[in-house]
This record gives sequence, C-alpha cells and structure tokens, in this order.
Amino acid sequence: MIRDANRRIEGRVRRCFMARSSALSDRVGQPVHLKLEHQQFTGSFKLRGATNAVACLSDTERKAGVVAVSTGNHGRALAHAAKVAGSRAVICMSKLVPRNKVDAIAALGAETRIIGVSQDAAQHEVDRLVAEENMTAIPPFDDARVISGQGTLGLEILEDLPECGTVIVQLSGGGLLAGVAAAIKAERPQTRIVGVSMERGAAMHASLQAGKPVEVEELPTLADSLGGGIGLGNRLTFSMVRDLADDVVLLSEAEIAAGIRHCYTEERQIVEGAGAAGVAAILAGKVRGPGPIVALLTGGNIDMALHRDIIAGRVPTPEGEPCPM
Ligand SMILES: *Cc1c(COP(=O)(O)O)cnc(C)c1O
Repeated sequence: MIRDANRRIEGRVRRCFMARSSALSDRVGQPVHLKLEHQQFTGSFKLRGATNAVACLSDTERKAGVVAVSTGNHGRALAHAAKVAGSRAVICMSKLVPRNKVDAIAALGAETRIIGVSQDAAQHEVDRLVAEENMTAIPPFDDARVISGQGTLGLEILEDLPECGTVIVQLSGGGLLAGVAAAIKAERPQTRIVGVSMERGAAMHASLQAGKPVEVEELPTLADSLGGGIGLGNRLTFSMVRDLADDVVLLSEAEIAAGIRHCYTEERQIVEGAGAAGVAAILAGKVRGPGPIVALLTGGNIDMALHRDIIAGRVPTPEGEPCPM
C-alpha cells in the first residue's frame, strides 16, 4: 500500500534531503542524520498523506470537495492538494491553531472555519459538512490513505540510509509513526522506532498507558502540531503505534525550545516546535540508539516573531509555560 502511495504522489511532493549532523553526531558519539522534511512543499510532511488521499478520490467525490479537521499543517497540505486537483476544501480548526497557519490555508483558496478550543469541536463541523453537503472527510491521521502517504517518508529513509539503527518519529495522532514504522519494519524489523511527543497533552502516550484511546486536556505548547486527541473511536493508528513503536519519550517546553534553537544555530534550519522534537529528544539524552540515528525535521511552519523570541531565549518563560500567541 505504501509503495502504491509512493507511485501516486511521485512528482507532486518534493524528495527532501537527508543531511548528516556533525554537531549531533559529535555530541552522542553515533552518526545522526536529519531528514529535512520541513522543506517539503507547504512546509510539512503532511503533503504526502493529503496528496495520496486526494489522488484516491473518485471524480464525483473530487467535485463535491474535501473537508478536514486540522492543527494547521494537514489543513495546509490538503488545501494545496485540493487546489492542484481542482477541488473545493474546507478546513475546520480550533482556536489553538496559530494565526500564521490559518492565514496560509486561506491563502491557498480553502475555506477556514475556527470552532471551539479542541479538535473534537471542529470535528462536529466536519461531520455536518459530510452529512449535509456530501463532502469527503480526509482525516489528519486515522485513515489508511493518509497513513500510507506518510509512510512514503519511511521508504525514502531506507533508501537514504539503509543501515539506520534508530528512527525518531514525532507522535501526535500517529499517522506519521504508523506509516514510517510500517515501511521501515517491513524491510528492517530490527530498526528501533522511537516516538516523541510533548509533556503537555500527549494523547497517544496517555492512551498507550491506559491500553485504549483516552482523552487528555489540550494545552498550548510550542509543539502545537502535536496537539489534539487521537479519537475515542480510533480505528487504525492506536493499534499500529502500540505494535510498532519500541519506545515513546516526552519533552518539556524548555527541551522543545532547545531543539528549535539547535536547529537554527547549528543546523541552519528554521523549524517549528513539533519539527524540532526529534532533535530535542537527542539533545535531552532521551534517545540513545543504536546508531545510525535518524531524526525528522517534520515541519517549518512557525510564526517568525515567536521563532525570534525562542532564539533570543525569551520563550519559554521560566515557569516553562509557552508565551500566549
Ligand atoms: C502532524 C504533525 C506531526 C505528527 O503527525 P501525526 O501523524 O499526527 O502523529 C509531527 N510534526 C508536524 C510538523 C506535524 O504537522
């Protein structure tokens, strides 16, 4: 399925570079490589899943349009994929989604709707549009088309670094980890897959601990793209992450900020909080190997004023709370 997705999206997504990081390799004493996926079109890997899902639609579905709930990056990716396919897109988001992400979605010609303070509230609007306007929902993670699209990143990692020992994968709803781990474990079952989330509102981590999908309170975090629940009726990603992830580690806001700063000053890359989480986990000493270690820079869609504050050390505040945006 992932190989089919790879054929479907070929030429529509950018094949981003994998770069060895001397700074991180020196630090941990093992080779560390960074997949620069924040340079993907629309600024995140989410374009892979969205493009594959739109390519799977029938003509009738494409004409009626697509709708999605999003923390921002899936919405932007879907808005782009829909535009390319000549389809209408409506993106429903909570008030926690940063302004710069909402604006970028609107700039692609998609309709944006801001509803409530959680993904669940925005999901009700998606359900209504599916029922009343016959639109097709493209979920941000719990969907086979989306998971296989994200999995194409795993195929590229295997091509770039066939001997990879550990791959650190950002973990929110789990579409990325499920796809990447499925692709990699099929070829190299011994490669360790380590999920990384933030301490503030890690729904998948809480669900894994509980042994079933549970709800957690959504909190503002520098890793805003990792926010949101996994859905109490989760069909695919909960069991895939449970079966495929070898470990899951959590990061404080200060550790995420340190990751963003390292990416900027040492790697010369501008990444958002979620995008820096893999690097942050290495810096925090929470991932040891075996090497070579691969970390993904998953997204770059950060508000630039916030980025400046983080680089200058003004965020997070000493209490560890992110600055209200
Ligand atoms: C969506 C997203 C993730 C997490 O992906 P899931 O499939 O929801 O686990 C990680 N990083 C960035 C930048 C994202 O946009």
